[in-house]
Amino acid sequence: MDKLKRPSPKRIVFLGIVLILAAILTWLSIRLLVKNTAVAPTDNRKTPESVPLETITDESVVEEEPEITNSIKPISNASSSNCTIKYGTLMLINPNFMVENSFIAERKTELISLYSKYGIAEGVAGNGDNLLDEEAAIHINDMVNAYRSAYPGHTLETRSCFRAVGTSCGRLCAATGASDHHTGLTCDLLDPVYGTSLDTDTYDQHLDWQWLRENSYKYGFIDRFPESWAGGPMSEPLNVDENGSTGLFETWHYRYVGIEAAAEIATGKYNNGQYDSLEHYLKSLNLVIDLKNGLCK
Ligand SMILES: [Zn+2]
Repeated sequence: MDKLKRPSPKRIVFLGIVLILAAILTWLSIRLLVKNTAVAPTDNRKTPESVPLETITDESVVEEEPEITNSIKPISNASSSNCTIKYGTLMLINPNFMVENSFIAERKTELISLYSKYGIAEGVAGNGDNLLDEEAAIHINDMVNAYRSAYPGHTLETRSCFRAVGTSCGRLCAATGASDHHTGLTCDLLDPVYGTSLDTDTYDQHLDWQWLRENSYKYGFIDRFPESWAGGPMSEPLNVDENGSTGLFETWHYRYVGIEAAAEIATGKYNNGQYDSLEHYLKSLNLVIDLKNGLCK
């Protein structure tokens, strides 16, 4: 028993210091833990403030309109019960999407003279007015100049751009209120080298119509009534059906829709790579939901 050593005083002091330090460290740790726990709710309160901002951004992306609507700009101050008027250069006027006389009259006041502004002549006067929407006019001028460059000595003249009244010449014509020529975005085009006749049977002899068919989309214009969408023999009555057939075949009728849409129509983005009709294109974009009864989205 005597051999049992009692701890020396120094050792007792040392152990005491170690115990005190351990206690201090433990206390500090607990205090730090409690502090962090107390701060957390503050951070959490900040988080909800930032969440709504992120949520709003996400929701605005989700609810964004289809891509094509980004390029849709209303171009007319004229109003109409025709729901497609709000689609600007994509407006659709046909027997199922008619416009009122008041629209036609106001639209005319918004157009500019192709001859006065760009020297593009009307080949046959009296069939309409040589007037066009300003944006479309800029592009048709570029297109005519490109055609002149491609075939020196040739040019394009208009046969009819804006028409205030319809025509009654059978299937090739449209009644007042139903004509694409009311849009202020359309011209019938012909190289005077080929005379004055608008005749689909001579298409193969026309460099002008062939060139337009291949190149017009680069300038925002489309072949408005391609044969593939005519919907049958020309002897049939005019019929714009629910699938996008137009009932018309006109190799000279070119319509401005803007470069983006023209490229998508000409390359058949929504028509298996084949030339589209404006009617079918608008339905594919869900901008028009009923081609037969004139209803928009
Ligand atoms: Zn025409």
